[in-house]
Amino acid sequence: MTIPAIFFAYVAVLLAALIGVGIFSEMRRRGFTPSQSEDRIFRCPDCGYVYTDDPDVDRSRCSQCGKLNEAIKF
Ligand SMILES: [Zn+2]
Repeated sequence: MTIPAIFFAYVAVLLAALIGVGIFSEMRRRGFTPSQSEDRIFRCPDCGYVYTDDPDVDRSRCSQCGKLNEAIKF
């Protein structure tokens, strides 16, 4: 093997590893994002506390002052 061939092989392996890590992190990100965005966001108008709750609840009680709040819709 010549020096340029070794250098090219080294760069190719490095690029493949970077692409592999990129795809892996992208898959991880896509796998986790839906479960987070499905949670409903609530904002208490009384104390201003912002919190999230399960997507199957329409109203959630504020953990700071106990007021029942409607979910924020986007
Ligand atoms: Zn509150």
